Amino acid sequence: MESSIFSRREVLMAAASTTMAAAGAARAADVLGAGAAAPFTLPPLPYADSALAPVISANTLGFHYGKHHKAYVDNLNKAVAGTPLADLELSKIITSTYGKPEQTGIYNNAAQAWNHAFYWSSMKPNGGGEPPAALKQKIEASFGSVDACRKELATAATTQFGSGWAWLVNDGGKLAVVKTANADNPIVKNQKPLLTIDVWEHAYYLDYQNLRANYVNAVLDKLINWGFAADNLG
Ligand code: MN
Repeated sequence: MESSIFSRREVLMAAASTTMAAAGAARAADVLGAGAAAPFTLPPLPYADSALAPVISANTLGFHYGKHHKAYVDNLNKAVAGTPLADLELSKIITSTYGKPEQTGIYNNAAQAWNHAFYWSSMKPNGGGEPPAALKQKIEASFGSVDACRKELATAATTQFGSGWAWLVNDGGKLAVVKTANADNPIVKNQKPLLTIDVWEHAYYLDYQNLRANYVNAVLDKLINWGFAADNLG
C-alpha cells in the first residue's frame, strides 16, 4: 500500500503539490491566454523541481525550466521589444509569425515559451491512471480506448525524428495525436492542444541518455495530467 512506503511528510508534500498544480494550471492559462503581452514572464513551475522524481529528476527539471525555458522567454522579449508584436498575446505572436522566414527566430522562441508552459502543466506528481469521465468518453469515441490513445501518444513521441513534441489535440471536435518538429505548435493548424510531451533530448538525456522510449512511457504511466487535458477540452 502507498501509505506504507510514503512517509507522512511525502504524503503532505504530495497534497501540497496537487494544490500547487491546480494553481499552476491557472497560471499557465494566464500566460497562454488573453491579456498577456510582452514583456512575458517565466511562469512559475506548478510544482517543486523535485516533485516529478524519479521519472524526471530535479537536475533535469532545474536545467530544463531554469535554463532552456527561461532562455526562450528572455530571447522572445528581446526580439519583440519595440515592435508591433510586443502588443500581442503569446499565441497571437505564434500564429502571426508562423511560416514567415524573416520571423523564424521570433516564432521559435514564442512557440517554445508557450510549449514549455503547457508541458509543465501536462504533468503532475502521481499522474497517469484514468482520465476524468468527460475526457475518457471523448478519447474512447476518437481512439476506441484510453489504452489505444496512450499507445498513439507513445508512438508519436518515440518516432518524432529529432527534436519536437507529441500532442493530444482537439481537431474540430475529434481528438487526435499529432507530433511536431522543433518548436512547432498545433495551434498554427487550428488544432487545440490538450496536453503535450517534450521529446527534445534536453527533456530526458540527463536521466535516460538515448532511451527516449523509457522516458516517454514513464511520463505516460506516472506523470501525465489527464485532468489538465480535460480542462482544456472546454
Ligand atoms: Mn524542452
